[in-house]
Amino acid sequence: MTAGAGVAAAGAAGAAGVFLWGEDDKPVRAAAPAAGAPARSLPLKPSAYRLQPLTGYGPPRAAPGRTPVRHEPLLRMTGRGRTMVLTFDDGPDPRYTPGILDTLAHYDVRAMFFVCGEMAADNQELLGRMADEGHIVGNHTWSHPLLTRLTRRRIRSEMSRTSDVIEEGYGERPRWFRAPYGAWNRDAFQLGAELGMEPLAWTVDTLDWTTPGTGSIVDRVEKGAAPGVVVLSHDAGGDRSQSVRALGEYLPRLLDSGYHITLPHRRYT
Ligand SMILES: [Zn+2]
Repeated sequence: MTAGAGVAAAGAAGAAGVFLWGEDDKPVRAAAPAAGAPARSLPLKPSAYRLQPLTGYGPPRAAPGRTPVRHEPLLRMTGRGRTMVLTFDDGPDPRYTPGILDTLAHYDVRAMFFVCGEMAADNQELLGRMADEGHIVGNHTWSHPLLTRLTRRRIRSEMSRTSDVIEEGYGERPRWFRAPYGAWNRDAFQLGAELGMEPLAWTVDTLDWTTPGTGSIVDRVEKGAAPGVVVLSHDAGGDRSQSVRALGEYLPRLLDSGYHITLPHRRYT
């Protein structure tokens, strides 16, 4: 079985769940996606693929500093080589997250976990394990609301409470933010930057939240595999046993086909 590596070098970016912004900063396509579903994007301009800040790979730097206010989230990494980032959203969930962490540890791979505050508060030991094992924990709001329907005050509360609970369990404040449903607005970008977080979306959506079958999740990752791709999966929010099993299948195949699974690092610290 081929790992699909390199098959979809061009196609992967088109699957990114990101809003495109018009002249007046209103989303070009603002329809709210179904729960967990990032909206399908319009074709992106080539320039949108080449977002500059994610130029390097490696562990995040420690010192927080000024974070730029963006108008769209980052979708992928730039750089050379067959390098990909794996991300897991909505957890941590003691039913599924440990299995994902076990597989990552088995292959000595680091990933990103965009956690929800209300899940993190109940599962602080899993945040501690993520820290111990070198993963990045990002902020995915407290209760997973559609931010575009909230007041600025509510958005701030959703974000800052989550950063607080991450700091408790993980040991440092998150430096990455991902909006639920991929639904960003100006407040989300501004408040995220105020809290020192860069907005990270994704390139390839496994659609694992639809429980399409383990094989289907594996296929989506392998078909979408390409340099710089950021993969979206979930470790909570429903029955994620397919997501856990799929990781055990696609991860060794990605590694066998020469992919290096890594973490983004920020140019602006
Ligand atoms: Zn989510």
